[in-house]
Amino acid sequence: SMTFSLSLLSILIVVTLFFVTFRNWVKQKKLSEMKSDFINNITHELHTPLATIIVANKNLQNGRILERKENIQPLTDVIQRQSERLKILIDEVLDIASTNRIVLDKKEYRLNDLLDELLLDYRLKLMDTNIELVFHKETDKDLARFDKFHFTTMLLNIFDNAVKYNSNEIKKLAVTTRADRHGDLQVLIQDNGIGISSEDLKHVFEKFYRAPDQYKMQSKGLGLGLYYVRKIIDAHGWSIRVDSKPSKGSQFIITIPHSNK
Ligand code: ADP
Repeated sequence: SMTFSLSLLSILIVVTLFFVTFRNWVKQKKLSEMKSDFINNITHELHTPLATIIVANKNLQNGRILERKENIQPLTDVIQRQSERLKILIDEVLDIASTNRIVLDKKEYRLNDLLDELLLDYRLKLMDTNIELVFHKETDKDLARFDKFHFTTMLLNIFDNAVKYNSNEIKKLAVTTRADRHGDLQVLIQDNGIGISSEDLKHVFEKFYRAPDQYKMQSKGLGLGLYYVRKIIDAHGWSIRVDSKPSKGSQFIITIPHSNK
């Protein structure tokens, strides 16, 4: 009976060891998958600041623009901000690559001010696009705590989609900050683009998901943008919802709970 319980014990140990090793392996695999997803998405984001710097610099070489001295400072400010963002993007890629994880650096910001700045630069990037970009501030209770870099990257993913999945002559992009009826802060991003079918709506936040009809638009993408958006929203303890009607447009609604500010 002694040898029996001993062999039972060793079987138990082997089985436990096996499961612990297996669990660690799954965890490691998940981590490294997440790592490469984030790196893919963020590397993709390198385009935006670079494109914005190129446009700002082109403007600085344009004699007609240079005639007015007051045009210069805003353009050099854009180059300064976007170069800083480019540096953070590169640091972040290196950081995620070496540590395997995203560390949020949360601070308190005035959301309206951040969006003013972000949209100013975004407008410049879209200069050659026929776009109507508006910002409605429906609340001034706009204090929120978040990681500025990831919050900005997340919004840019949503903005880029609003422009990309839009075949209208005049593309509309409206951003609104408001308080909902519970006093929670919300950010709405609305477009008049191709919309998303109810079937696709269930999947848009999934990794690698791209609605089949986007091929009509001949758009490029990895299907990682909204997956990243969802991860960042979750990491902040916020929520995101999307309403859409095919050929009418879409709206993304981010809710920042009162308790989470
Ligand atoms: P990607 O743009 O690289 O395909 P995303 O994860 O950002 O990946 O988006 C997933 C899919 O959701 C897109 O391929 C597209 O089909 C759909 N989608 C996202 N945003 C919009 C939008 N504003 N309008 C219409 N379709 C959208």
